[in-house]
Amino acid sequence: MEVFDIRFGSRKASPLQLHSARWVVPVSAPPIERGAVAVFGTSVVAVGPAHELRISLVDAELVDHGDSIIMPGLINCHSHLELSPLKWRLSPTGSFTSWVRNLIKARQKIEPEEYEKALEEAIKTLHGNGVAGLGDTGNTPLVPQKAQAESSMWPFSGIHFREILHPVGDGILDLSGEVQNGQIQNRRFKYGYSAHAIYTVSPMAIQAIKARDSQLGLPFSIHVAESEEEIEFLKDSKGPLYELLLEKGRDPDGFKIKSSSPVKLLDELHVLDEMSICVHCVHVDDDDIEILASTNASVCLCPRSNMFLGVGTPPVEKLLDAGINLAIGTDSLASNDRLSIFAEMASLARQCPQVDTTSIFKAATLGGADALHLKGLGVLAQGSAPYLYVIKSGPVTSKELYDYLVFQVAETAPESYWAVEEGDWIQNYG
Ligand SMILES: [Zn+2]
Repeated sequence: MEVFDIRFGSRKASPLQLHSARWVVPVSAPPIERGAVAVFGTSVVAVGPAHELRISLVDAELVDHGDSIIMPGLINCHSHLELSPLKWRLSPTGSFTSWVRNLIKARQKIEPEEYEKALEEAIKTLHGNGVAGLGDTGNTPLVPQKAQAESSMWPFSGIHFREILHPVGDGILDLSGEVQNGQIQNRRFKYGYSAHAIYTVSPMAIQAIKARDSQLGLPFSIHVAESEEEIEFLKDSKGPLYELLLEKGRDPDGFKIKSSSPVKLLDELHVLDEMSICVHCVHVDDDDIEILASTNASVCLCPRSNMFLGVGTPPVEKLLDAGINLAIGTDSLASNDRLSIFAEMASLARQCPQVDTTSIFKAATLGGADALHLKGLGVLAQGSAPYLYVIKSGPVTSKELYDYLVFQVAETAPESYWAVEEGDWIQNYG
């Protein structure tokens, strides 16, 4: 058995290892003070109190991390890594549609040679900030090609969602031409499809995309209820998004999708189930929340992107009370200045002070893994993947633990590199 040690970029023979620390955060169970995680090859084989595991696993190589926190790798459930060259090129405008206009213009100005460097930095930054699982969205094959080309060094498990924009008037959606792209994947990074949003993809095309994902056994993802302008477009067939589509030569009236909310529309289209990820859900009402809960769809929150775009704050407490699985995403560097799930957690906690930090940390780990259906990620438990991230914390009490992870860690990432200074991977595998 071999373990890939990301810090040294090499493979080395590894026996059974027992990593102990002041705290182990399994996520699926309460934190363990003076806990340990036993790893053998590409699997976690035991998690528990260090003194007990030391007795039961006498042959294990002991690695004590002292006053640290061992946690599973984080999950970034929604990113657009291909937009990374747009870092700091767009400013908040206070209007969602004017940001979309600026994004379309800025995208056209990206020089082909800018992508490689920006992608490299984005990948390094995300991984340096403890991300092990990724749900990435894109309109080009740039990211899946990179994941394929660098298969052995690609640090993420997850899915690349080929995002489809298919307004009415574009005919029947044919995804068969995508088959070749569908083969661009590595062992741990799959290739699926997502619909952009209800105002850019016709109802029939949304159903076709969902059907394709179901065929592949992968989740389906769509931006939902992100802005008031989206609600206005749907309910009243007017507003800035309607105007934008007209300008682009589309026929927004052809959508014929009068519905009182994006969530209700998706429910009427029968595309919501436990394999569906609704990204944003800022403007959802009680009925929408009931639908999301009864269909078992996941909701991916993007707190810093929402703040940047000025679209509002989702009703996180209500979503949690309804039992909806929550995940967290950074969205892109076109609507965010950082690629850090730690920073997203801190923002979410500040935006929703009534939501407990345990639930926020769960959304950033297990919630994201469940949304993307990534088995063995987002938790530390027997059989889980050995994505062990360690944070040198100093002494932290049980009361402070989740607050520390949610609020404090983001502060230790210097702006220049954006990686968590006190954090490092113990183990990972390629
Ligand atoms: Zn997005």
